[in-house]
Amino acid sequence: MADVQKAWMYKEYGNFQQVLKLEQIDVPEIKPHEVLVKVHAAGLNPFDFKRGYGVIKSFDSPLPHVPGFDVAGVVVKVGSQVSKFKKGDEVYGDINGDIVEGQARQYGTLAQYTAVEEKLLALKPKNLSFVEAASLPLAILTAQEGLDRADLQEGQSLLVTGGAGGVGSLVIQLAKEVYGALVVAATASTKKLEFLKSIGADVAIDYTKENYDELPDKYDVVYDSIGDYPKSVKAVRDGGKVIEIAVFEVEPPAFSFRLVAKGENLEKLTPYIESGKVKPILDPKAPYKFSDVLDAFAYLETGRATGKVVIALI
Ligand code: NDP
Repeated sequence: MADVQKAWMYKEYGNFQQVLKLEQIDVPEIKPHEVLVKVHAAGLNPFDFKRGYGVIKSFDSPLPHVPGFDVAGVVVKVGSQVSKFKKGDEVYGDINGDIVEGQARQYGTLAQYTAVEEKLLALKPKNLSFVEAASLPLAILTAQEGLDRADLQEGQSLLVTGGAGGVGSLVIQLAKEVYGALVVAATASTKKLEFLKSIGADVAIDYTKENYDELPDKYDVVYDSIGDYPKSVKAVRDGGKVIEIAVFEVEPPAFSFRLVAKGENLEKLTPYIESGKVKPILDPKAPYKFSDVLDAFAYLETGRATGKVVIALI
């Protein structure tokens, strides 16, 4: 195996179009609880470029960074304490468990190889391609953690803002297929309403024509994926809960959280994915080539992606 690899890297904070460059760097060393994954596909998330702008600078790991949280690939080396995986396993995951003080990895998934703690990975669902698998971890775990924290129950109603986005499109599917919500409503712009219905939304609200917070229907749970606080609170029934993932200074009934990714939580979703009940949603422009990472980020940053933007390396 080669000692050096190609990786996208930034050495200073700023706009990726200026600071993110394709470099030749060392293949990372692995620690006892880590595996080395040959990256077949890497999923992009808005948090990649937000981190690039320095939003967690005060507690981030030192520069330089290789961005990328989501990976799907093949295990090529295992650390001395690894028990769950062996060489050749096809795995996927979000390589950052918790991004508290100094824990966000310096070297992410936009590289030919990435080192990952084994507890963050799960075996790739058998029915998914690497590109499909790489689209899921951070977004689906965020959907799951939010719905768990809000304690969404079978038979309840849910409204999702940003229903066509990476997180929102998975919230709709999990709410219906995993949590048994009776009514799922979601917001998007006019052209995406049919898409919302196609992935399970019962009610599709066109935010260019209607204010969801002024409609008569109130919901048991509101999952606000676009940071539309405090408007989101107007759509919840008395005693309901509002999940905020894009803004953090909120008051009850709203709450916010930052994802703490775990491979075991991905494993809980495997049956729903392998049965086809929950499907990865790739943006029509995806996958992008590894050489086109800057174009992929420019598109993601427009905020108009449908489902997920993914980079194929192999
Ligand atoms: P995306 O870039 O995938 O979202 C794009 C989607 O947002 C588009 O389909 C767009 O639809 C929709 N959208 C934009 N504005 C509106 C609007 N006013 N009303 C309805 N829909 C709208 O983002 P993600 O889903 O990946 O992430 C969403 C947010 O959550 C980001 O800010 C991200 O950083 C954050 N996040 C936070 C996490 C945490 O741990 N706290 C974890 C994961 C994500 P249209 O074109 O129709 O407008």
